[in-house]
Amino acid sequence: MRVKQQLVGLSPYKPGKPIDEVKKEFGLNEVIKLASNENPFGCSKFAREAIANVLDQLAIYPDGYAANIRTEVANFLHVDERQLIFGNGSDEIILILCRALLTPGTNTVCAVPSFPQYKHNAVIEGAEVREVPLVNGVHDLNAMLAQIDADTKIVWVCNPNNPSGTYTDAESFQEFMAKVPKDVLVVSDEAYYEYVVAEDYPSTLPLLSQYDNLMVLRTFSKAYGLASLRIGYGVGNADFIQTIEPAREPFNTSLLAQVAASAALKDQEFITHCKEQNRGGLEQYYRFCKEHNLDYYPSQGNFILIDLQRSGNDVFNYLVSKGFIVRSGEALGFPTSVRITVGNTEQNDAIINELKQYLNS
Ligand SMILES: *Cc1c(COP(=O)(O)O)cnc(C)c1O
Repeated sequence: MRVKQQLVGLSPYKPGKPIDEVKKEFGLNEVIKLASNENPFGCSKFAREAIANVLDQLAIYPDGYAANIRTEVANFLHVDERQLIFGNGSDEIILILCRALLTPGTNTVCAVPSFPQYKHNAVIEGAEVREVPLVNGVHDLNAMLAQIDADTKIVWVCNPNNPSGTYTDAESFQEFMAKVPKDVLVVSDEAYYEYVVAEDYPSTLPLLSQYDNLMVLRTFSKAYGLASLRIGYGVGNADFIQTIEPAREPFNTSLLAQVAASAALKDQEFITHCKEQNRGGLEQYYRFCKEHNLDYYPSQGNFILIDLQRSGNDVFNYLVSKGFIVRSGEALGFPTSVRITVGNTEQNDAIINELKQYLNS
């Protein structure tokens, strides 16, 4: 069998190393995974209850339109219900957008290093990918603008950016939107939105009334702690959303995901708690970096990229042998760094202790 040419040589997504694998490999009883920006505090207890309440409905297909969670998210964000599209994680919205807009002969513009799924899905659709290097860890929006031509369909702004944790500020983003041609979709991927504290971080939702070519992505996987359930959404122009809806699978979000998201959304106290804990955790890492003269990017997300000035794979291997799974920067475009998800206070202390021992060894 011959698959499409675009798939030849493409590797599947490499997830963080699974906990059970590491336990077995190193004979460890306890392994802490801080590799995939999951929430160390789990999820709202109301989400668990909501799932328990629908366990007698597993034989029934979910509501493909996700009507209940749709109404709740629309009210929460003060947008029209028709401005929303739900996905099996926001990953699936990225896939749907690529499927709907990209073909061979078109191109898409993104930053590098950034979230790899923009490029990955674009390659599968046969589109050209124009990658623009970050400058000081931040999207170079002017250079990205310069890459746009008549065949450009989508420009991706990952904000905050994964894996650097840096952000594009409101003024830069608005100037950028004003210059992007109206027939080019700009995607603001805000997977870490709930963790952001920067006062000049852009409010993109109000811009939707001005720009039909803007789409905002959010997810329940990160701060809401529902990564295993797979639910995220896009907010954009209602007419545009109607045109891409046929590219969505009919039952792409499960009933469990819908009811859990709905309950989690109502528990904003949990989100506030996680956001505060995350700030405290980042401060632990900042202190450690300053003490050891290590470069890092101040982060608006729930992760930190630290430059240890040694092979990221070596640091990864050392930490994994001690029972901590992080992400080596080598696969992320920062070869001498590791990306660590902010854990709870004890987890952060424990990993920082290991890093200190490593640096002294
Ligand atoms: C985690 C992440 C996503 C995808 O999250 P889903 O679990 O698919 O909702 C999207 N964008 C960025 C930048 C991420 O880090």
